[in-house]
Amino acid sequence: MSGGDMAKPLLGHRSLEGDPSTPAAGRTIGVLGSGDFARSLAIRLVCSGFKVVVGSRNPKRKATLFPSAAEVTFQAEAVKKTDVIFVAVFREHYSTLCDLADVLAGKILVDVSNNTEINHHKESNAEYLASLFPASTVVKGFNVVSAWTLQSGARDGNKQVLICSNNQEAKRTVAEIAQVMGFTPVDMGCMSSACEIENIPLRLLPSWKIPTFLALGLFLCFFTYNMIRQVIHPYVREQKNRLYKIPIEVVNTTLPCVAYVMLSLVYLPGVLAACSQLYYGTKYRRFPDWLDQWLQHRKQIGLLSFFCAALHAVYSLCLPMRRSHRYQLIQMAVKQAVEKKMNIWVEEEVWRMEIYISVGIIALGLMSLLAITSLPSIANSLNWREFSFIQSTLGFIALVISTLHTLTYGWSRAFDENQYKFYLPPTYTLTLLVPCTVILAKVIFCLPCIQQRLLRIRRGWEKGRYVKFVLPSATGEFSSGETSSNV
Ligand code: NAP
Repeated sequence: MSGGDMAKPLLGHRSLEGDPSTPAAGRTIGVLGSGDFARSLAIRLVCSGFKVVVGSRNPKRKATLFPSAAEVTFQAEAVKKTDVIFVAVFREHYSTLCDLADVLAGKILVDVSNNTEINHHKESNAEYLASLFPASTVVKGFNVVSAWTLQSGARDGNKQVLICSNNQEAKRTVAEIAQVMGFTPVDMGCMSSACEIENIPLRLLPSWKIPTFLALGLFLCFFTYNMIRQVIHPYVREQKNRLYKIPIEVVNTTLPCVAYVMLSLVYLPGVLAACSQLYYGTKYRRFPDWLDQWLQHRKQIGLLSFFCAALHAVYSLCLPMRRSHRYQLIQMAVKQAVEKKMNIWVEEEVWRMEIYISVGIIALGLMSLLAITSLPSIANSLNWREFSFIQSTLGFIALVISTLHTLTYGWSRAFDENQYKFYLPPTYTLTLLVPCTVILAKVIFCLPCIQQRLLRIRRGWEKGRYVKFVLPSATGEFSSGETSSNV
């Protein structure tokens, strides 16, 4: 979406008479039911320029709940006045509408219903409605939009309306209505997709499942490792109780490990994909399913990495606030006084800390930029070049700077044998494994011979593929032959 589109209101200021340029606007729409959804739908339809007639079992009682521009009447009366009827009634009550079958014949019924469980019934609600009203045309739609979104308008909340039906004309009519209401209709094909559409509102963040489990798994592994090093080791070796370190110190050494490894896991599948393309000499070979899945989850993995990095920053800022930290400072001062030491300044340590914190802040800043630009509203305002520059180039720079942050944090600890608690190397050395592999692979891909080959593959060149070419003959006519695109 361009910047101009972003600035446009999703709902124009339409008069109640409707927009004459749009065939759908101004027509009469029926709504069966007078509940939350029916009410919000009626308000939105009225605001979008439609005439609305609501069919209720008890119109007198319900009329006051609807805008005065909407007519509230008995169900049979309402459906007689229109060709398009939204059925805002729960599935279990569909059979009570069977008396209306004759008057509904030849009309479009929009099934907006949802279930309470995924794949609750054998057939979708829309298919069930179609079986009850064979003379009507059923369109599934609007179920992914909540009553709240309808009321607040498409400016807020989900803008997409998924639509499916076996009748193209009916689907087009409902799509036009959705468009006039400020929504984006998405054609999901024929009625067999209704089940899938009905399951969508019941799914809880499906694309976050794998990345969340990955982050939790990494957190658990690093947390256990750090616990062994920071809490169990001092207890076993020196009988020192370091349990107090668990809530902040151990968590704070675990979070950057997760953030850093997760950030590298955003770029690792790209490296594997490039290796596969180089190996097979084509971009037209399908990646294995696991790699496909991994590539599709990069955004969520990146956002979780940013979340852990942000938490690490907050935890780090809180470290000096702890009582244990204050006691340690006082103890150090006392020890210094007893030992009559005037100066404990270690130049190398000072520099290490300054560089390490500064680099960490830059890495966090870049990661925030990546996180912000991955949000759909921001991503839509960028062109492909800008998006790929931020996500790919700046993302990789963030990984390199995070590596510098890790290295300056670790400094020479990897070479200090006291750091090998229970022969376990310092945690930061483990975290460097995947990111350094990714960085090394990216550097290798920058070698001209490999970069050229990869570029050609990505432009459609294939290893061992023969392409037709055309040569002018001596007579001036063209003759064809074959050559390998390898040459
Ligand atoms: P609701 O508040 O309970 O309203 C249901 C309406 O159905 C009642 O007001 C009633 O209106 C009518 N109805 C017709 N025959 C009925 C019968 N035999 N027994 C009981 N009621 C009967 O429910 P809702 O939240 O508006 O949901 C309506 C439909 O929209 C459902 O299929 C739901 O899955 C779908 N939906 C709702 C939302 C949401 O955010 N609420 C979002 C997406 C989809 P009268 O008494 O006037 O006849």
